[in-house]
Amino acid sequence: MITLKGIRKSYQTGSQSLEVLKGIDCEVLEGEMVAIMGSSGSGKSTLLNVLGLLDDTDHGSYLLDGQKMNGLTERMAARYRSQFLGFVFQSFNLISFKTALENVALPLYYQKVPRKERQSKAMEYLTRVGLADWSSHLPNQLSGGQKQRVAIARALIAQPRLILADEPTGALDSVTSNEVMTLLRDINKEGITIVIVTHENEIADLCDRVIRLKDGLIENPQTASHV
Ligand code: ADP
Ligand code: MG
Repeated sequence: MITLKGIRKSYQTGSQSLEVLKGIDCEVLEGEMVAIMGSSGSGKSTLLNVLGLLDDTDHGSYLLDGQKMNGLTERMAARYRSQFLGFVFQSFNLISFKTALENVALPLYYQKVPRKERQSKAMEYLTRVGLADWSSHLPNQLSGGQKQRVAIARALIAQPRLILADEPTGALDSVTSNEVMTLLRDINKEGITIVIVTHENEIADLCDRVIRLKDGLIENPQTASHV
C-alpha cells in the first residue's frame, strides 16, 4: 500500500533550516493497522502529512498503491486524497455550525453527490459508528468520543483505502479511547489500511506493528513481512 524510500523533509524558518525527516524507509502493507510512535517533535505529524499528500518531500520516493506520489500538482494531490484517503485528527476538525449528519456528508458535497444521496449515505455511516440518534446534534452537543466517531464516519464515507489518524485518542479518556480503537480495528478488519500516530503505548499495543521515529529516522527498521 505504502512504500517510502529515503524520504527527507526540512522546514525553513527565516534563515534556519530544520531537517525533520532524514531518510525514512518504510513499508505498510494493504490491510495492516500500524502505529507511528516517537517523542514530541520527532516528526510523526510531518510523516503523516507526507503520507496524506498534505505536504511534499524534499527527497526520496513515495509510492501509494504502486503509484508515484512525488511532485504532484495540488490538483492531483487533492484528487488522490479524496479518492484514496481518510483523515482523523486529535481535535476532530468538525465544523461547529453543521450537524453530525452534515459533517459526515461533507466529503460527498465536494464530490458533487446529490443532496438526497449525501444525506442517506451520511445516515448509513452515522449508524455504522453507532450515532444514528445523534444525527441532528451539533458538535458541541456531543462528547469527545462521539465527536471522534462522527469524524471517523466522515473519513469513511468516501470509501478510502487508507485511513491516516493523527493522535485520534489524544483528547479522549482511556475508556473512550478504547471504544474508538475498537471501531478503528473493526474498520481495519473490513480491509481498510490504517496508520495511527500516537505517543501512548496502550494505543500502539492495539495495532499490528509499531514504526518508531527518532532523530528523523526509523529506529526499528523492519519490513512489513516481519509482522
Ligand atoms: P510530532 O508530531 O512528532 O510531535 P512534528 O512532525 O509536528 O512532530 O514536528 C517535527 C518538528 O518540525 C518540530 O520540531 C516542529 O517544531 C517542526 N515543524 C513542524 N511543522 C513545521 C512547520 N510548518 N514549519 C516549521 N517547523 C515545523
Ligand atoms: Mg504531532
